[in-house]
Amino acid sequence: MIKELKKAILDALFPEKAACFSCGREAVTDGDGFCADCRSGLEVFNAAEPPKFVDGYTAAYVYNDVSSRMIKRLKYNNARYLAKPLADALTIPDHWKIDAVLPVPLYYRREMKRGYNQSELITEALCERIGAELNAGLLVRTRNTGQQTRLTEAGRKRNVKDAFAADEGAKGLSILLVDDVRTTGATLSECAKELKKYGADRVYAITVCCAFEQNNR
Ligand SMILES: [Zn+2]
Repeated sequence: MIKELKKAILDALFPEKAACFSCGREAVTDGDGFCADCRSGLEVFNAAEPPKFVDGYTAAYVYNDVSSRMIKRLKYNNARYLAKPLADALTIPDHWKIDAVLPVPLYYRREMKRGYNQSELITEALCERIGAELNAGLLVRTRNTGQQTRLTEAGRKRNVKDAFAADEGAKGLSILLVDDVRTTGATLSECAKELKKYGADRVYAITVCCAFEQNNR
């Protein structure tokens, strides 16, 4: 009851909720959060090979103009309310048996600067929906890996090498890693490798957007 009331107050205070998730324009969004223009540009993710060390991978959308705008609004424009609809767009395959769910961690200084980790917000909303426990403590980022946008695939691999540290609590678990965007998958690979080093049984990964194109390999 209190939760519902809180939500109603927040909804009234932050009318951006009526704006399109992607372009932010006030528009008729048909309840799905997108204006007609953005909806027609949204591409549903089909399939891509899992990153190395990852046992299964899926995403909600192909990374394109529409979906990238949505991620940028969550990440840089403080549009935290987008975390829930983005989490709702994620479908976990039935055969993935999950013991622990965790976001790809940000370096603590970067998180302090931004005030939040967008992937953690998505993970929180996902955990609430599926009734799973968020176990962010299983993995930390031990150094700042900076922006990867301009790096090549090999450069990204080098950049994230040994940038994460797992915890012994990972032993024997089947873990779901959550992130906002997958580009090459170098970050997810590095996280999965580290978790497996600490005995994780399986590591699956799910991202809101996937920018990886199979035929580029
Ligand atoms: Zn729009």
